[in-house]
Amino acid sequence: MSSNAACIFCKIIKGEIPSFKLFESERVLAFMDIQPLARGHALVIPKTHAAKLLDVPDNELEECMPVAKRIAKAIGANDYNILQNNGRLAHQEVDHVHFHVIPKPDAKQGLQ
Ligand code: 5GP
Ligand code: ZN
Repeated sequence: MSSNAACIFCKIIKGEIPSFKLFESERVLAFMDIQPLARGHALVIPKTHAAKLLDVPDNELEECMPVAKRIAKAIGANDYNILQNNGRLAHQEVDHVHFHVIPKPDAKQGLQ
């Protein structure tokens, strides 16, 4: 499993930067986004360092979607986005593959 000393998400995995963790296993970490686009905005990352989706071996990725599903369920939003950006033109800022789980505000559910 590769790690990159300069990568902010690798630092979160190693505990060098604090985060609000939601789930952790051998291959996956999920934590709250520091600048949430909506209340409950979370990130799911493979623990191995890779900048873009195509750089991650399938076996390191396979747990990410089930974890994103569990978080989406736990958040309880009817509507939500699962987003994964690759490259600057696609709005990727952190070069460690991550899946956003972004609830869409729903006044009835108090998620705005
Ligand atoms: P991107 O634009 O690369 O798809 O999204 C990167 C996400 O990482 C952004 O939503 C940003 O708020 C989040 N982020 C950046 N640095 C940190 C950090 O140090 N801690 C946490 N929890 N989230 C971060
Ligand atoms: Zn990394």
